[in-house]
Amino acid sequence: MANLTCSVRYAKGVGEKRAQLFKKLNIKTVSDLLYHFPAHYEDRSNVAPIGQTSPGKRQVIQGQVLLVNQFKITKKLSVFKAAIRDNSGVIYAIWYNQSYLSKLVKKGKELVVSGKVELKFGQKQIKVEDFEFLSGDEKDNLHLRRIVPCYPLTEGLSQRMLRRIIKTNLEEKSFYLIDSLPYEIRKRYSFISLPEALNNIHFPEDFSRQKEARRRLVFEELFLLQSALALKREEHKKESGIPFSTDRELTSSFFHHLPYSLTLSQKKVIREILEDMRSFRPMNRLLQGDVGSGKTVVATLVLLTAIANGYQTALMAPTEILAQQHWLNLRQLLAPLNIKVALLVSDLPPGDKKEIRTGLKEGRIQLVIGTHALIQKEIDFNELGAVVIDEQHRFGVMQRLSLRSKGKSPHVLVMTATPIPRTLALTSYGDLDLSIIDELPPGRKSVITRWISGSKRRELYRFIGEKLKEGIQAYFVYPLIEESDELDLKSAQEAADRLQSHIFPDFRICLLHGRMRREEKERIMDSFREKKIHILVSTTVIEVGIDIPNASLMLIENAERFGLAQLHQLRGRIGRGARQSHCFLLTGQKISPQARQRIKIMCKVKDGFLLAEEDLKLRGPGEFFGTRQWGMLNLKIADLIKDAQVLYLARKEAFQLVRKDPGLKNYPQLWEEINRRFVQQLDLVKVG
Ligand code: ADP
Ligand code: MG
Repeated sequence: MANLTCSVRYAKGVGEKRAQLFKKLNIKTVSDLLYHFPAHYEDRSNVAPIGQTSPGKRQVIQGQVLLVNQFKITKKLSVFKAAIRDNSGVIYAIWYNQSYLSKLVKKGKELVVSGKVELKFGQKQIKVEDFEFLSGDEKDNLHLRRIVPCYPLTEGLSQRMLRRIIKTNLEEKSFYLIDSLPYEIRKRYSFISLPEALNNIHFPEDFSRQKEARRRLVFEELFLLQSALALKREEHKKESGIPFSTDRELTSSFFHHLPYSLTLSQKKVIREILEDMRSFRPMNRLLQGDVGSGKTVVATLVLLTAIANGYQTALMAPTEILAQQHWLNLRQLLAPLNIKVALLVSDLPPGDKKEIRTGLKEGRIQLVIGTHALIQKEIDFNELGAVVIDEQHRFGVMQRLSLRSKGKSPHVLVMTATPIPRTLALTSYGDLDLSIIDELPPGRKSVITRWISGSKRRELYRFIGEKLKEGIQAYFVYPLIEESDELDLKSAQEAADRLQSHIFPDFRICLLHGRMRREEKERIMDSFREKKIHILVSTTVIEVGIDIPNASLMLIENAERFGLAQLHQLRGRIGRGARQSHCFLLTGQKISPQARQRIKIMCKVKDGFLLAEEDLKLRGPGEFFGTRQWGMLNLKIADLIKDAQVLYLARKEAFQLVRKDPGLKNYPQLWEEINRRFVQQLDLVKVG
């Protein structure tokens, strides 16, 4: 094993310089190299007789060099040409800008060439993509006369180089490969051995062998991940938590004073949560519910329960605006109950920060609401009993675990509105129990969503003007790719000014963006909440969590720039009151077919889960979470859509195995491989 975990720079044919390039491909160890899989293959196994090649096709030919010729077309473009013959005909092989070939490709040599065949001036030629000499001793055909792997590359590395390096190291290292898949599983699914699988994923003998190899490697990848999650879950179970009493006066009076009655879904998840909180092991639960399904009230219950039992609590949100909204709501709600609530965000004056820090440390503050500022090192609690993380999809697994580590096994509830397709949920949140709110509060009308063409803008403004007169408020959203992008920011500012002076002079319009100072953001949100502002022109800072039921209109500019998940989040800001809500999507002049499809789906599909599935199909899991990618989703071969069935199977097997042998005592190789792969993400502790 030692040999596989060592740095790739010591692998044969690599060295310091190439190791730097490999780093860009996320290849750090020899093992990473062997697990750098082809993105696709090219079938060059059939050599065509030259006389039967047909123009327009990619083909492989083999023959003897009759004569060569080299000339310049322009100063920068030179051509090297070789006539090649077999017993069926002659063809010209063409290379561009490779004059050094004149030293290698000489009359009489035997060549194998692959490339696209074309007809030029009545003469067949082949534009060379790859070639090899067919000399007596060089029998290894790595690039031709076989199914050839094509790898993801980076500048400075070529396919030929990578093939050679991988082939050499496969041969050299296959002795050290240790199969981490348990024998009984290999047998049950008749998987091929690990060396065989690696050989056939890189250099398949034929496509059916490649399929077999892939089947095994996909299973292996998902099985290892699921085993890690199963172990983490076992670990959670072993911890002793704080059993809370859940029928305190505080919580019941809170429910009595709610202005509405809970939906059946809300009641169901509350039951599940309270059961967790009563038990001796800490809750680790994911609450999933579409935007507007009413997760906040559930979160409040968790916080109140812990507070009623004499513990401190924390609520973490991904943006300052959302943290502040929670703070406003909860402070109001909890003030009469004499509960001390603090807001902790990063740009507080140092004095205030310090006061909160000591308040938390000494246990005077019972609830702290904040952004990621909460997980900084200096923050200590006296006795943290429960943690809620809102919009978890904006945080990483590590952040969840680090907030949790500020207490002794506190109860943890993470909430997300980003509807995560089941396959993703099982991979990113696989160590958590799952509760789902699958209905919206009664009386909600689904948001009417329409794609408006630029020529109808005037009409649209007229419609919005009328609604504003009725007292309805609106969001106008401008996409900023980066909040730091001055140009985009400027255009949002100009748009706000123009709307104010030319289009809606009788209404109050304000711009809100992420780079404003906190007090300013607060002031603007407050005025909007108090209906002093009619149109809030904003960047995507309003994307998550904002809850202002009177705002039931939304206009999204350049909607083609957003992904489906984000559009859904944005649209989730409206449709929160009893009134019919409208969402208008405007797009730029040039829009890609993909974007067009997204917009159409948005207009049709309202259900977040269906949208998420569509999004996953359109974009793939890598981009699903955008740049906030999960370390854990670093999948090399499994495809969560194509391989969903394998995922379920791998999960079943992994959880069964871990239940049977929670310390993996009988599976030391599996244990080792899991640790090697996930040590950072999961911080596993060997049990038993
Ligand atoms: P989300 O799940 O997106 O966080 P919120 O918790 O912000 O949703 O709730 C959305 C809105 O629905 C809020 O205004 C909230 O007061 C209201 N709400 C929550 N539960 C109910 C219910 N059972 N009946 C009526 N309104 C509700
Ligand atoms: Mg919310």
